[in-house]
Amino acid sequence: PDGWPNNRGLDYDSLVAILKETPDSEKAREWSRYYTSGPHLAGKNLSQAIWTKERWEEFGVASTIVDYDVYINYPKGHRLALLEKEKGEKDAAEDQWKIKYEASLEEDVLKEDATSGLKDRVPTFHGYSASGNVTAGYVFVNYGTYQDFEDLQAANVPLEGKIALVKYGGVFRGLKVKRAQELGMVGAIIYTDPGDDGEVTEENGYDTYPNGPARQPSSVQRGSCQFLSFAPGDPTTPGYPSKPGAPRQDTSHAIPSIPSIPISYQDALPLLKALNGHGPKASSFSKSWHGGGLGYKGVDYNIGPSPDSLSLNLINEQDYVTTPLWNVIGIINGTIPDEIVVLGNHRDAWIAGGAGDPNSGSAAFNELIRGFGIATRAGWRPLRTIVFASWDGEEYGLVGSTEWVEEYLPWLSASTVAYLNVDVGTRGPDFKLTAAPLLEQVVIDALELVQSPNQTVPGQTVGDTWDKKIATMGSGSDYTAFQDFAGIPSIDMGFRASGNSPVYHYHSNYDSFTWMERYGDPDFLYHETIAKIWALVAAKLVETPVLQLSATRYAEGLRRYVESVKTKLDSESSFDLGDGNNEIFDALDTAVDRFHFAATLHDGTAAALLQQLYDNDIPWWKFWEKIQLYYAIRRINTKYKLLERKFLYAEGLDGRPWFKHVVFAPGKWTGYAGATFPGIVEAIEEKDAVAALKWIGIATGVVEGAVEWLEED
Ligand code: GLU
Ligand code: CA
Ligand code: ZN
Ligand code: ZN
Repeated sequence: PDGWPNNRGLDYDSLVAILKETPDSEKAREWSRYYTSGPHLAGKNLSQAIWTKERWEEFGVASTIVDYDVYINYPKGHRLALLEKEKGEKDAAEDQWKIKYEASLEEDVLKEDATSGLKDRVPTFHGYSASGNVTAGYVFVNYGTYQDFEDLQAANVPLEGKIALVKYGGVFRGLKVKRAQELGMVGAIIYTDPGDDGEVTEENGYDTYPNGPARQPSSVQRGSCQFLSFAPGDPTTPGYPSKPGAPRQDTSHAIPSIPSIPISYQDALPLLKALNGHGPKASSFSKSWHGGGLGYKGVDYNIGPSPDSLSLNLINEQDYVTTPLWNVIGIINGTIPDEIVVLGNHRDAWIAGGAGDPNSGSAAFNELIRGFGIATRAGWRPLRTIVFASWDGEEYGLVGSTEWVEEYLPWLSASTVAYLNVDVGTRGPDFKLTAAPLLEQVVIDALELVQSPNQTVPGQTVGDTWDKKIATMGSGSDYTAFQDFAGIPSIDMGFRASGNSPVYHYHSNYDSFTWMERYGDPDFLYHETIAKIWALVAAKLVETPVLQLSATRYAEGLRRYVESVKTKLDSESSFDLGDGNNEIFDALDTAVDRFHFAATLHDGTAAALLQQLYDNDIPWWKFWEKIQLYYAIRRINTKYKLLERKFLYAEGLDGRPWFKHVVFAPGKWTGYAGATFPGIVEAIEEKDAVAALKWIGIATGVVEGAVEWLEED
């Protein structure tokens, strides 16, 4: 390519200097104030989409709005009442049901926090929840994990026909509702227990928000109840874009049919107390059932079921519509047309605020884009194309990003090198990274270049303060379609709460600008810092002539994942795959060893070529050697670029064909947490030998395919 590698207006060091110097905490505060000043629910934030596009264009980045027609719900009404039977004088026919407690289902208006009192603030509700009106007894089902429900069934606790009273936490909320529904329960009420807020609770003597760092008792976690690990995106168009006129599928496999609502612990309290003395106590029930943090308010955490004299009335009314939503897409064209790096953050929030989720990321994103804009104005033209995406509809189920990936799949699949996601940029001081192995090293390198806002040790970088843990890709944010559907290596990162951070009011009215200024990031320095890290990762991927992906790290990851599958199989005592389990893995082991060999060779060749290019000691009259070097780099880069794609399996995982990646998927019953070799692991869990052998074969096939891809000429 023309002028390659470094005659494109600005040398790399100058670019990095601009990207490090531009992000500004006070500007981030300004962007945060804007995004958090009014409701910006999916499909209701056109003004913020237009505003975002206008800012990006002011920064010098050409941008467009890309819309989809998606199926989503808006809240109409709800009710939750605890009813108590008063015995009739003569017989049951004269029994009367009296209201013992009417839940407020509203978050308190706080005079200190302006957005908590907006007239048009968003009611508490669940995305993709089913409308319904049910009256029934109820059972406390702990976190509502698959295992929790197994424990309940093993103890013969009646579930059918009952309403589940569930704690938030552990797994994605939609999967709690899914399992309750499968077991014949008729509704779900999900509440936030302060026992899960770490050490900062009212019980420990901390004051509650806004006067202190403990949880505001009326705070409610809204959120989607889509069956995320079965397919994200618009549930009516799995696998293809929700363009106007697109055919629509039945949604019953993707979203609940029983009503659910989210409530505060204040509203849960009377319901929990009414179970005192009924059924076994959670703390003595099973090892993961420790009760919760409301003991000091008189809750004994009995499981129930509730006695015949009590009943819950749960009403959920949702309005389902097909409505436009708006992604903002910005592009800086590179000189290599088919090598792209995509950066994304969602813009939509459940609530008026969203200062943490997602707009700490959005504010940082604007600062990063401003930096790239300044660089282009200084004459820089990137080597590779950079795409910036402000997604809509993430909260309902990664809708904006999934529809976009589904629409542009052929282009993305042919060209994309990496996807870099930041959702919550900051809600505390601890840096957290989730990454595809190919991208681990490039992020680690960037962390060394950025000073931590925490300077208790002068000069320390984010890399110094980081716990060095890297989580595997699961789901819960917009990288899912890139990683699991398109096979594009992705990362997700941000600063998170530490053990004793102020309580973050996730998906509540109090994830507000006021909370961020008082407790989350008062100086907006963590906003500034995540912008710098994100920009430097992008710059290195976009500008280094040889792609900065590490195939060796992928090989090391695969080795660990295979070992963990074996451990899993060994731990299932009543299940094995024929004599000496281990032989079953011989072919896969060999393939992974071969991959490791090919990967280190590939990385080694890549590093040598880059060095040769930098040494720049081929004299001009040996132009043919120079051209050969360029071709060799081009070849190596194409192998890197398409390597992750080799791990896709077109038919997808069993029972969830949208998920195409053989190595990474959200856990079927966790949603957020990732599973490695999900096909094999799920087959082992289900004690299905045929499926286990099938998936070991598929895994062996894709690893061998990846080896061939690296080795072929
Ligand atoms: N991040 C959102 C949540 O956790 C959306 C997740 C999803 O539906 O994929 O609620
Ligand atoms: Ca779709
Ligand atoms: Zn988010
Ligand atoms: Zn969210």
